[in-house]
Amino acid sequence: ENVGEKDAGVTPMMAQYLEIKGRYPDALLFYRMGDFYEMFFEDAEQAAVALDIALTKRGQHMGRDIPMCGVPVHSAEGYLLTLIRKGFRVAIAEQMEDPAEAKKRGSKAVVRRDVVRLVTPGTLTEDSLLEARRNNFLAAWAEIRDSGALAIADISTGEFHVMPCPRVRLLPELARLAPRELLVSESHEAEIAPLAEEIGAALTPLARASFDSTGAERRLCDLYGIATLDAFGSFARAEISAMGAIVEYLDLTQRGKLPLLRQPTRETPGGVVQIDAATRRNLEITQALSGGREGSLVAAIDRTVTAAGGRLLERRLAAPSRDLDEIHARLAAVRHLVEDPGLCDALREELRKAPDMDRALSRLALERGGPRDLAAIRAGLERARAVADLLTGDVPERLSLAARDLAGHDALVARLRAALVEEPPLSARDGGFIAPGLDAELDEVRQLRDEGRGVIARLQARYVEQTGIQSLKIRHNNVLGYFVETTATHADRMLAPPLSETFIHRQTTANQLRFTTLELSELETRILNAGNRAIEIERRLFEDLRQVVLDNAAAISQAARALAEIDLFAAFADLARGEDWCEPRVDDSRAFDVEGGRHPVVERALRRAGESFVANDCALSQGETPAIWLITGPNMAGKSTFLRQNALIALLAQAGSFVPARRAHLGLVSQLFSRVGAADDLARGRSTFMVEMVETAAILNQADDRALVILDEIGRGTATWDGLSIAWAVLEHLHDVNRCRALFATHYHELTSLAHKLEGVENATVAVREWEGEVVFLHEVVKGAADRSYGVQVARLAGLPPAVVERARVVLEALEKGEREGGARRTALIDDLPLFSAAPAASPPARGPSAVEARLAELHPDEMTPLQALTALYELKALV
Ligand code: ADP
Repeated sequence: ENVGEKDAGVTPMMAQYLEIKGRYPDALLFYRMGDFYEMFFEDAEQAAVALDIALTKRGQHMGRDIPMCGVPVHSAEGYLLTLIRKGFRVAIAEQMEDPAEAKKRGSKAVVRRDVVRLVTPGTLTEDSLLEARRNNFLAAWAEIRDSGALAIADISTGEFHVMPCPRVRLLPELARLAPRELLVSESHEAEIAPLAEEIGAALTPLARASFDSTGAERRLCDLYGIATLDAFGSFARAEISAMGAIVEYLDLTQRGKLPLLRQPTRETPGGVVQIDAATRRNLEITQALSGGREGSLVAAIDRTVTAAGGRLLERRLAAPSRDLDEIHARLAAVRHLVEDPGLCDALREELRKAPDMDRALSRLALERGGPRDLAAIRAGLERARAVADLLTGDVPERLSLAARDLAGHDALVARLRAALVEEPPLSARDGGFIAPGLDAELDEVRQLRDEGRGVIARLQARYVEQTGIQSLKIRHNNVLGYFVETTATHADRMLAPPLSETFIHRQTTANQLRFTTLELSELETRILNAGNRAIEIERRLFEDLRQVVLDNAAAISQAARALAEIDLFAAFADLARGEDWCEPRVDDSRAFDVEGGRHPVVERALRRAGESFVANDCALSQGETPAIWLITGPNMAGKSTFLRQNALIALLAQAGSFVPARRAHLGLVSQLFSRVGAADDLARGRSTFMVEMVETAAILNQADDRALVILDEIGRGTATWDGLSIAWAVLEHLHDVNRCRALFATHYHELTSLAHKLEGVENATVAVREWEGEVVFLHEVVKGAADRSYGVQVARLAGLPPAVVERARVVLEALEKGEREGGARRTALIDDLPLFSAAPAASPPARGPSAVEARLAELHPDEMTPLQALTALYELKALV
């Protein structure tokens, strides 16, 4: 085929290319040519840069060179992944017929091509493009009049959920689900774009018609083959619209091959703990602040042994339950396995061998699967059987329900066992995966194919005998196929009757004569046909098996879900045993009473460094009355760690896990809020103080009396007195209005006096000891206020020169004295402060303040983070 011609004309192939490209203007077009996917024009230029591959030219279009680049088909997945990660969408155009077919239509005819799939971040199915332990969600948000809804689907596993979601709840829900791609109506594009950006999802605007709820209902009914959606429950218009948009988009991207979506389940917002985006970030639940999974809660506690179990863990942690019965049922299952370690280990041993049935099933449904996916289903169901057999005894309800979902697949397993070889190849293309003994015809043609060599050898022996030529050989090449060969010395006999009647002369080379015979060419056809026929039969059988599996899809995915659930219970039990966690008592009270609590992530990091974690108690309730702990103490003492560990303990308990503590009694938490003062948030580079205040406002406006609120150094991002006043007012509001349980860390010692004024506020501090003038962090949280600030000592630890530390100590003492004598005198005192009285003896006689001293006087060690102290130190050094 010619890409372009020298004249200004357009070749037929380029016309086809442009026609297809015209239908996918927003995607890169992978245009199949033989063993390559080629890209042209601007697509080629963009892809060459993104993939770091060579940009070449091929032919001309309208008198100009056509830029081109390409990737080999067999390694296309890796390139696809890179492009998707870099935010591209890729349309894949395949050859829809054999080039030989096209030739029959004329020498200039172009092979028919069409797009078979549009690859986008939210619609991936290949294992190599997916993270095994993470869902790959596609989301759609719809709004009809004032009610909103969010639908999410993972086509790699078949999950499909929908939930009411007004505009204000969209960001927190997106933060919870972390979809890779978000569909919205084009009319909402501008408004939703910043949210998508914030959570790192690709935003795909669709025409309004895609969200039309009447069309949506029809699409959904067609998908599930039902007459009315009522069969699945009652959905709001906006919910139907959002689900419909997903189905339409899948139809578009998968080009009519619809994935197996399970029946949509409706999530109700009241069912799970509300956790907003900032809190999720801050608690590093599924993602660390640095961006990856490493360092997050989920990475520290994930002991699941299957990918599906890992995905379930992430979902449970992202959405802990608010339903007491649910929590108790999950805890009972975990307790059972903690108490029966033998059972727990046996289950995990079986589960370890269970492949990812969800994803295999999804590939089979999309006609992207191969024999290995069938084998995965077989192995998964065999493991399911083994797991069910382990759970026959007297087990808690959650385990017995799951076990019930695992059974009942024996017939399918037997069929797959009989049909497939032990370790089938990835692709069905070349056959070789159907077990012998399944299909008589297949066995026969395979025998013919494999024995072809033997038959040929026997034929050769006969010809040797017939001709008396010992050196006669039957050989094979690609041009002639099978042929008989003799040396030219036998020409006289071979070319004359009677031998010439059998041996038909085909070719003479320098020394050889080549012949064919009727028998040989018939045999050749049979051998060739046998090979092709075997592949044909295998493909047909593959199709049958695929269909049988898909007919059982609902039950298989039910079993897959049950395996994931059991895996998670066993993983929690293994964790509880290995890490010495306890079962939390969760009830309807407003208690929050943790004894010997730990932070799982910090503890793990310390252990790696050979250090141990100091366990701490936290009691945020006086009987039934919620309380607020006000925690003071120097930087680096362990305040943030303490705050977060308590939030994580609540979260883990409601996710159904044991908790890192000696004992824990927790009243149900409805909402979890966590905020950090702006100084720690520098990396995000926004108007940080403003962000902090907006986020704090959100808490004060939303937190109900069952919320758990964690505030770390709120108000730090502004001038001292502003910050103090804001922190003060926030604390009062939490206490008087929200009446929630809260932990409040601050370096404003002035706040500690509030404990006397507000009945529900208690002071706590992280103990430090001073030893030979150095601070020793004990990391022990004790009742009471910190009696002084250790900022000056921390400055010494940070490496400030001794003279500077000494000077700071004098300033501090003067300030503290001023405090005692009344705040009004504070400024005056600073002015009075003799600048050199405490300077080391060796200092020169009085002179004006140096630049270093002037800068030093401006520093407030109390209010500095270690990072700021270090930065200040560099500044000082630069002044010398
Ligand atoms: P703060 O918020 O008071 O500045 P952090 O909570 O950030 O302090 O803790 C500082 C460091 O102290 C942590 O990185 C950790 O290494 C250590 N640390 C904190 N809490 C504990 C603890 N309970 N036991 C042992 N080490 C701790």
